Amino acid sequence: MALMGQMMSAPLLISSIIKHAARYYASTEIVSRRTEGDLHRYTYRDCELRARKVAQALGALGVQQGERVGTLAWNGYRHLEIYYGVSGMGAVCHTINPRLFPEQIAYIVNHAEDRYVFFDATFLPLVEGVAPHCPNVKGWVMMTDRAHMPADAKVPLLCYEDLIDAQDGDYAWPEFDENLASSLCYTSGTTGNPKGALYSHRSTVLHSYASALPDALGCSARDVILPVVPMFHVNAWGLPYSVPLVGAKLVLPGAKLDGASLYELFEQEKVTFSAGVPTVWLGLLQHVNANNLKFSTFRRTVIGGSAAPPAMIRALEALDVEVIHAWGMTEMSPLGTSCKLLARHEDLPEDARHKILEKQGRVIYGVDMKIVDGEGAELPWDGKAFGDLYVRGPWVISTYFRNDNTPLVDGWFPTGDVATIDEEGYMQITDRSKDVIKSGGEWISSIDIENVAAAHPAVHMAACISAFHPKWDERPLLVVVRRPGMDVTREELLAFFEGKVAKWWIPDDVAFVTEIPLTATGKMQKLKLRDQFKDYKLPTA
Ligand code: ADP
Repeated sequence: MALMGQMMSAPLLISSIIKHAARYYASTEIVSRRTEGDLHRYTYRDCELRARKVAQALGALGVQQGERVGTLAWNGYRHLEIYYGVSGMGAVCHTINPRLFPEQIAYIVNHAEDRYVFFDATFLPLVEGVAPHCPNVKGWVMMTDRAHMPADAKVPLLCYEDLIDAQDGDYAWPEFDENLASSLCYTSGTTGNPKGALYSHRSTVLHSYASALPDALGCSARDVILPVVPMFHVNAWGLPYSVPLVGAKLVLPGAKLDGASLYELFEQEKVTFSAGVPTVWLGLLQHVNANNLKFSTFRRTVIGGSAAPPAMIRALEALDVEVIHAWGMTEMSPLGTSCKLLARHEDLPEDARHKILEKQGRVIYGVDMKIVDGEGAELPWDGKAFGDLYVRGPWVISTYFRNDNTPLVDGWFPTGDVATIDEEGYMQITDRSKDVIKSGGEWISSIDIENVAAAHPAVHMAACISAFHPKWDERPLLVVVRRPGMDVTREELLAFFEGKVAKWWIPDDVAFVTEIPLTATGKMQKLKLRDQFKDYKLPTA
């Protein structure tokens, strides 16, 4: 007969995280730059009390467990209260990316069937445009106080602080099944309509535990953590959960994400640890280097969302900031791998260590991965064979929200990324399968080409896309934004590739532009670039 373990069966609920922070890190601070223009500070104890009031207010508005509540908001304390208030009461916190097109936002709000949408003042014009297309939303809540409410909004609005003030906070977080839905994120949907990943309390709590581990993000109560990655981009990579879980001080930068504003906040609040996509660090690095600045406390950062160019990793290292390259996706809550050295790597020569640190890294416990060929057969872990990357685990998606087609293949989720895995389990993304350049049946990694280009001192940003070639089908075209005040020619750039990549990988041409379009999550928008250059005639054609 099966013998059951005899331990308590406490459900893994999101409310337990903020309850823990409020009880054991009561006076630890949360500092937010808010849309009102000032810096707001309070503690985990204050945050939990107000999150309870949010839960009470939602109850008073008639929100039921399982119903979706949307947010259009920056990283800030009110957004954090909504994260916990909504999920904590058993409703679903649906973070929406405000940088999407209004039509996409309306589609997402309607598809999710959001009952209420909470939004930062910045997004009032957006809400006014979108609201008429979202007939099922019962109310739009502006996240500010009465004094900052607009007098002449085009849609009826509720005031966040009024809702909070009407409650007494006398509320006990309910207990329920840990498998209930807690939160919802849509992928930005570069092709087709956005699709929703519906997380559960269990998947979120497990992801928070795992991502806080030393060889994952490595969060500690002694840290001061500033997520630059927005709370609308896969829940800021889980930091709004893992930071209170470990009891670190949390700094939320609001809408000001330019280099100068970030630097000021990093210094003033003594930030030790941060996380963001590569394009964010471009801005910060430019500001710091142009003004000969140093970081006094900032020592580690996670870079993910797209490949961190080796030149960026070195530039941050030169400022005493360790880069932890990480990989994941919305469908994975998002963390899959992180890149840290093993003890046996410590004595390797610097170049060999760097080669490892440039990879996307090893899985964190809970995630399992494999690479497969076109027929689905598993490929060897030799660091050379590349194939489609598949994953599985308790915080990996099984089906998209309100979509009957299963994305899984034999119980594995195909990521859409192409990767290698080496003997030690370090995974390296070759490309997104739709971005890889197929030159005469052979593949060229657009990421590798971009990494070389990014190391050229006159290059600010570089994207490598495929351009039509009559003989090879596709050949690489390098699209470059020059660094302000610096010059480089096409010939100089192409010569820079010699010896760094195989000869046939060297791009056929360079196109200089003033700007590379970015996606709503701050990644280079290659789909748009390919469209922009679809009639481009390569000189080699
Ligand atoms: P969105 O494109 O909507 O922001 P995700 O954040 O879920 O969606 O994007 C996930 C994808 O981002 C991955 O499948 C992968 O292609 C890419 N990605 C994430 N992290 C990295 C990384 N460190 N290096 C290369 N690509 C990455």
